[in-house]
Amino acid sequence: MPHFRITGLLNLSQVQQQTLVVVGLGSLGSHALSLLAYPWRQLVLIDPDTLAEENVERHILGYNSLRNYKVTGLKQWLVRNRGLEASRIVVHRVTMDRVIDKYRHANLVIEATGIPSVRSLLNAWCVQNNIPAIYGGIYIRGAGGDSISIAQPQHSCLECYDTAQSNDDLPPLDNYGLPQTSLNQETGELNEVPYLSGPVAAIAADIQDMALDILTGIHTPNQCLIHVHRWEPLLTLPEKWANGAKAWIEQQSEMGVIPNLRLVKENDRFTLQGARAKITLNIQPSGGCPFHFAADETQPL
Ligand SMILES: [Zn+2]
Repeated sequence: MPHFRITGLLNLSQVQQQTLVVVGLGSLGSHALSLLAYPWRQLVLIDPDTLAEENVERHILGYNSLRNYKVTGLKQWLVRNRGLEASRIVVHRVTMDRVIDKYRHANLVIEATGIPSVRSLLNAWCVQNNIPAIYGGIYIRGAGGDSISIAQPQHSCLECYDTAQSNDDLPPLDNYGLPQTSLNQETGELNEVPYLSGPVAAIAADIQDMALDILTGIHTPNQCLIHVHRWEPLLTLPEKWANGAKAWIEQQSEMGVIPNLRLVKENDRFTLQGARAKITLNIQPSGGCPFHFAADETQPL
């Protein structure tokens, strides 16, 4: 095994006891994987797709992997470029639902497909098997993204977050967040390149941060880290919080800080927008979730 220069940063013997599963090895999944290329006990890669030419700008793999399965190319990349042992890397060239049940011993699942039905299915499986998960996604044209960390699946989950959010605040993640009009009507393909690799790498770094906390046993509450690069909505605020936010924004420039937040009023509600900004939301149990229920209710729904 090569010498991993992680002494003092990561506990190698702890790393070697953990099993990490990555579902979806597109641009975000491959970047996150490259930041987590450590000698885990087992590393499981699941994705049915092959690498296409339009993937190359945003993907860890390059032209010499064109038309190969992404998981196969990434296994080779991990072995050749990072010195990981091939016998510890398992690849599945199928959809997640066909193989995930083999990994009830997983310590963490990272999901980066951006497909709502996959996220929902995986969330149900992780809650039922008490396995931590991180769900990553990129917004339209790479304006930002979010990483939802469910380290405590018995407390709350992705469904709790989705039902508690008014979903029109944040862009949808499927089809790269692009509306149907951005798709070529005849082929169903994207009409434009959805984002560059920089914003993807930034969200992948957030996922790495959260994943290492979970895999090294640092207690983290369930949370959604929203990270925007260009002006994007972060949060909808009730009026009682708007004045406090406004004062904070005004003080930023007085303190010599370039304001990275602004408040937009639409109808009777305020939206906090950000640019080069991060915000972390605490995910609480939600009455709308089939797996959890709010603390003030006595019956699960
Ligand atoms: Zn829930």
